[in-house]
Amino acid sequence: MWYLLSRLANHRRFSNVGGFLVVPACYTAFFRLLKPVVILLMLLLPVAATADWYKQEESIMGTRIAVEFWDEDKHHAKQCAEQVFSEMRRIDALMSPYKPDSELSRLNQQAADEAIQISEEMFILLKKSLRMSQISNGAFDITFSSVGHLYDYREGIKPSEQEIQQSLERINFRHVVLDEKNHSVRFARSGVRIDLGGIAKGYAVDNGIAILDKCGIKGGLVSAGGDSRILGDRGNRPWMMGIRHPRKKDAVVVVLPLSNTALSTSGDYERFFIEDGKRYHHIISPKTGKSVATTWSATVIGPDTTTTDALSTSLFVLGPAKGLQLVESLEGIDAVIIDGQGRMHYSSGLMPPKTEAAPAGPEMRQ
Ligand code: ADP
Ligand code: MG
Repeated sequence: MWYLLSRLANHRRFSNVGGFLVVPACYTAFFRLLKPVVILLMLLLPVAATADWYKQEESIMGTRIAVEFWDEDKHHAKQCAEQVFSEMRRIDALMSPYKPDSELSRLNQQAADEAIQISEEMFILLKKSLRMSQISNGAFDITFSSVGHLYDYREGIKPSEQEIQQSLERINFRHVVLDEKNHSVRFARSGVRIDLGGIAKGYAVDNGIAILDKCGIKGGLVSAGGDSRILGDRGNRPWMMGIRHPRKKDAVVVVLPLSNTALSTSGDYERFFIEDGKRYHHIISPKTGKSVATTWSATVIGPDTTTTDALSTSLFVLGPAKGLQLVESLEGIDAVIIDGQGRMHYSSGLMPPKTEAAPAGPEMRQ
């Protein structure tokens, strides 16, 4: 069976990532047959290989952080994993909008009044966020929080139409003004708030992978909710990464065998509540200040999780047509978008190769 999967995985290879097993719409019948075997395999594989695979999980940044890697020395493994988790805690303390003493909260309290000096790391991440806003034509916008903070998905709270309209013009990434020379940031008007929820987890995962790399780990995975990055492979095999079915709990729509790459999914099923049959969830259109209704999930594959995290949120907002247009313009990025009707859309790099017509040369004649 593994042979069959590997064959499929090698079906199409990419320079930036390992092999992919993609099961697009045209393969669904085949996948229906294959799915139980894949799931069985996913269940069996870790069992067969657990001996020296070190695994640890913790809840940080409001999400499940998992670290898994190959290390024959259990003591060393534990030390490295601890370093990864303390890095996650450090980033959470710096960037959480829920912690009143985080650097981010300080910005939200003061940056509309005066320019605020910020850490090198915050400066770089804000710069990257603004860059992502530019390339996504404003779909990714950390100032979404100017309206976004009025939602509380756990409590089922949403702003009124009037409250949205009052704050909507505060959403605009151009309100965030960075000063390279002084390493400071200022908000161009009052009421602007920022939130790094669409990029900080990806950044934390990248830092986690850098720690494992420094530890000398050759094969491992760090994930924070929907953001995962893979270092090397899983013992001469790719990691089998499933994309969740956005409407069926515990079901997987696609399995991607991946090595040495980053993968992020944004879904409308992560944080939401339903009122009068309408889903209110945590990915907000900067244009309307409301949850985006045209997408169920967006998955991005690329070189690092800071990029794939921000891009998955961007594609979610953009939807399949504009989203895939953006992906095609970027080097080394692929994507799977599930639209608001449950249809799957793949970037060209993930499409199965077209069957080539037999060349009409004389050597082909019978
Ligand atoms: P998660 O992994 O938390 O599900 P996503 O990568 O899907 O995250 O990003 C969702 C988070 O991004 C939201 O919880 C919010 O903090 C932030 N966000 C929501 N809408 C936008 C937007 N238009 N631009 C940037 N960030 C956003
Ligand atoms: Mg994201």
